[in-house]
Amino acid sequence: MLIRFEEFLENLKQVNEQILAACEAAGRKRDSLKLLPVTKNHPVDVARYAWEAGLRAVGENRVQEALGKMDDVDSALSWELIGPLQSNKAKRVAERFGRVQTVDRIKIANALDRYAGEAGRVLPVLLQMNAGRDPAKSGAELEEADALLEAVLNCDNLKVDGLMTIAPLSGDPKVARGTFAALRECRDRLSSRFGVELPELSMGMSGDMEEAILEGSTMVRVGTALFGQRNYG
Ligand SMILES: *Cc1c(COP(=O)(O)O)cnc(C)c1O
Repeated sequence: MLIRFEEFLENLKQVNEQILAACEAAGRKRDSLKLLPVTKNHPVDVARYAWEAGLRAVGENRVQEALGKMDDVDSALSWELIGPLQSNKAKRVAERFGRVQTVDRIKIANALDRYAGEAGRVLPVLLQMNAGRDPAKSGAELEEADALLEAVLNCDNLKVDGLMTIAPLSGDPKVARGTFAALRECRDRLSSRFGVELPELSMGMSGDMEEAILEGSTMVRVGTALFGQRNYG
C-alpha cells in the first residue's frame, strides 16, 4: 500500500525528532547532518512527497528503477545512487544521477570518470567502504581505501565528497557503532595522508541512525522509518 502524504509527514516528524535527540546526545548541531530519504521499492509518489516536504535529494539502490522514476518526476530533485553499480550502466548513471555513493573499485571510478567527462560534467561521488568487514556487504576493504582514493583523485571528472558504509545486520548496536567509528577513522586517516577534505560520512539507516550520528554521520539514509515497509502485498 502506498503510504498517504499525511502519514509520511508524521513519520518525517518522528524521524526528525530522533535525529535531533541524537544530535543533542552527541553535542552536535542539527545542521551538521542531512537526511536522505530512500525511495527504493516504493512508487515514484514517495519521491514527490519528499520534494513536497522540502527535501531535495532521494536515494535509490537500483539504476533501472531510478531512471524510470526520474522520467516521471519533473522537479529538480537530485537522485543519489546508494546501490551496487556495474560498468555497463556507468554511462547512464554518470549522465543522470546527482551523486554516486557506491564507488568501491577503481574500474567503476574510471568508467564514471570517462562518461562524466563525455557528458561535460563533474560527478560527485562517495567511496563505499566495507567498514564492518561483513562478507555479505559490498564496499572496498579498508586496506584498499588508499589505492581507491588515489585513483579517484586522479579522475578529473569526479569529485570525491567523502565515504559511505552500511553496517552489518546485527541485533547488537555496538556492532553498528564500531563500524561507523571505523569509517570515521578511515576518513580521518585518508584526509590527512592525502591532504584532502572528505567532509561527507554517509552512514546510518532506519535501525542505526543514533549510533551513526554519535560517530559523526553527516548523512543518514532512511527508508522504512519514512515510507513504511517495502514488501507490498
Ligand atoms: C535500503 C537502504 C537504506 C534504507 O534502509 P532502511 O532500513 O529502510 O532505512 C539505506 N542505505 C542503503 C544503502 C540501502 O540500500
